[in-house]
Amino acid sequence: MPSGKYAFVQMHFHTPSEEKIMGRTYPLNAHLVYRNTAGELAVVALLFEEGTHNPTLEPILAAMPDNAGGMETLKTLNIANLLPSNRRYYSYAGSLTTPPCTEGVRWHVLSSVLQLSTTQLQAFKALYPMNARPVQPLNGRSIQVGG
Ligand SMILES: [Zn+2]
Repeated sequence: MPSGKYAFVQMHFHTPSEEKIMGRTYPLNAHLVYRNTAGELAVVALLFEEGTHNPTLEPILAAMPDNAGGMETLKTLNIANLLPSNRRYYSYAGSLTTPPCTEGVRWHVLSSVLQLSTTQLQAFKALYPMNARPVQPLNGRSIQVGG
């Protein structure tokens, strides 16, 4: 996970998930983007599956821009409330998944999958019908497990 010197920049979502765990794709993922004072980026990826209603997502859903790529500022959002209690993650070096696909980004994919209701998923899908970049080959990169 990004340490204290990283500041939260923004979060966004992809449907279906851009990350896979053991080859499985999930219907939604969130990317939490952090930047440190040196300008280095780190991303925490959260995967979601259909299940029980997720109250922490409600203020995010309510504030979602009505066009893909739009931006909204939330006045209060405690990111910690969104994270699973098990913070185990897979970590690897990669790039941003949207242009300019900046390299040197440290990725942290949490292995605990979160849930959201079918209604919530449909709300995200209505905004983001299909915006996931295909999974990229590792090309010799290693994946570490931490948390
Ligand atoms: Zn992303």
